[in-house]
Amino acid sequence: MSTLDGKVALVTGGGRGIGRAIALALAGAGAAVVVTGRDMRKLEAVRAEIIAGGGAALALACDVADSDAVAAAFGQARSTLGPIDILVNNAGITASVKLADTDDATWERIMRVNASGPFFCCRAAVPDMIARGAGRIINIASYAALSGIPYSSAYSASKHALLGLTRSLALELARYGITANAICPGWVETDMVHNAVDTIVAKTGRSADAARASILALAGQPRMLAPEQVAAVALRLAGPAGANTSGQAITIE
Ligand code: NDP
Repeated sequence: MSTLDGKVALVTGGGRGIGRAIALALAGAGAAVVVTGRDMRKLEAVRAEIIAGGGAALALACDVADSDAVAAAFGQARSTLGPIDILVNNAGITASVKLADTDDATWERIMRVNASGPFFCCRAAVPDMIARGAGRIINIASYAALSGIPYSSAYSASKHALLGLTRSLALELARYGITANAICPGWVETDMVHNAVDTIVAKTGRSADAARASILALAGQPRMLAPEQVAAVALRLAGPAGANTSGQAITIE
């Protein structure tokens, strides 16, 4: 018997990067996994990978910035696989831009996807968790939730908001057996980092290696993390070992 047998997990942004690694890890531990996002081709590939491994999975199109779409996706997930036991708010976006050049639309989109999106998902998932007296909420924040990042003020503000949401939910939901935690990794080798490096190269003329070294130095990291390292922390929080951990901002060395 695997640790998450009988559990249903939903991972936002589960089609690639960190979300994909988390979806595969949860499925590997026995959970039925709903992967959501906007790119159905990638989501279907993850679903197929889980099913090929003997697991259960569902891929759903859902922009987390759209509260009606979030409510509809949770309804569909519930009617297909059952209520959500484990919610992983992973979907996120960033932009590398100076404060003075950050337009309203950029600020609002980043806040909407990174902070409002997790709120919409928590609001959709929590009633079922309360009814069953159990649940795990795992928010993929960032080291940017704990410190600032130059040229990423909207991103850092949105991740601070996500950490505030996490800490408040941990207090509000403890009485129902629901935990809420934030994982706060430094830089992780995904498309998000590749895009950040490309932007630095384009704006400064530095080499890609120099750009990578500069962002690693910002976070005090010797090397990029792998998505699987973040997934391992999410898996621990989702399983029996995570039962007594709540309200934490978990960093990864
Ligand atoms: P990627 O850019 O590789 O993936 C981002 C994911 O978010 C995709 O699956 C994408 O799916 C999804 N997404 C983006 N916008 C939306 C939206 N509006 N609605 C639904 N899904 C959306 O990045 P990572 O895997 O690196 O990032 C995952 C999370 O980890 C993010 O929250 C990020 O902030 C955080 N993080 C990343 C770090 C890094 O260095 N990479 C470090 C610390 C935290 P689709 O395209 O299908 O919509």
